[in-house]
Amino acid sequence: MIIQLEKNISSTAQDRLEEVLAEIQYKPNYIQTQYQKYIVAIGKEEFDIRQIGGLEGVQDIHQVSDNYKLVSKKWKVEDTVIDLGDGVKIGGGHFQIMSGPCSIEGEAQIEETVAHLVKNNVKIMRGGVYKPRSSPYSFRGLGLEGLQLFYKICSARGIKIITEVMQVEQIEAMLDYVDVFQVGARNAQNFNLLDALGRVDKPVMLKRGISGTIDELLYAAEYVFSNGNERIMLCERGIRSFEKAYRNTLDLNAIPILKHKTHLPVVVDPSHGIGIRRFVAPMALAGVMSGADALIVETHACPEKAFSDGQQTLNFQEAAVLYEQIRSTRTLQEGFNR
Ligand code: PEP
Ligand code: MN
Repeated sequence: MIIQLEKNISSTAQDRLEEVLAEIQYKPNYIQTQYQKYIVAIGKEEFDIRQIGGLEGVQDIHQVSDNYKLVSKKWKVEDTVIDLGDGVKIGGGHFQIMSGPCSIEGEAQIEETVAHLVKNNVKIMRGGVYKPRSSPYSFRGLGLEGLQLFYKICSARGIKIITEVMQVEQIEAMLDYVDVFQVGARNAQNFNLLDALGRVDKPVMLKRGISGTIDELLYAAEYVFSNGNERIMLCERGIRSFEKAYRNTLDLNAIPILKHKTHLPVVVDPSHGIGIRRFVAPMALAGVMSGADALIVETHACPEKAFSDGQQTLNFQEAAVLYEQIRSTRTLQEGFNR
């Protein structure tokens, strides 16, 4: 059960609430987020909800049968909207495209990508400065200096930044330069990292684990939320399957299922999802039709020369065509949803 507490609940009221919870054998977990104070109470006994709903200091109470609680749609039926400022919102009917290279490579590349985004009215640039690579000999990113350059160029043009954080120790130094922290598929169950991101005041995008289930993705989000950060989005980026004809199996089923289970926005990543450049656009469009609230896509002025993931990266001409198709598909999808 989730108990939403009054902001200024008195300690006497809190003690009384704890007594009642103890009587019905529910264990309270106190949660303070950027916005609100909650108790997630875990227990098995049947009880009359009015026993708690009527207590002093209780704003609202919800019985949530799902194992994850705070990210469940069972208690919060309205969609969470992630507001990045300057009118850039994701979720609850607001759609965004996040576009940019797999890796940040240097000043010229950032400049030309930003120019491409501005020209095409895309508000968020993606790009990794800490790159998880299967081989330790591959390019592993420009690190904090790369991020500072990324920020300098983007902030001057009003472009928001999403970039991957790989370790708890990186968070603090990155904080001033990112708009959204991305947690990569390989860190989907790095619970220390998820705990730490729960304590920052910046939105987080969680990618589904390489072999992660939908429930595991929701639990990862529950870690972040229960540590205090309500601004979370979930990203379907393909899972590992027996199929070898493409890089990953983009699980489009996950999109409507997630939208049904959670109030958090859902992002589709067709670049990693299929991993083959010529098929990225159709899968992006399918993701949007499936109900995604945002698209994240890898783009580069010259994918053949990209430092990483060039084989799944669109050039700017291809990307510009896709953005337009996405915008019309999105209109179609909205009509379809009504
Ligand atoms: C990426 O976005 O470039 C990336 C490494 O993604 P994932 O964690 O989904 O593999
Ligand atoms: Mn990549």
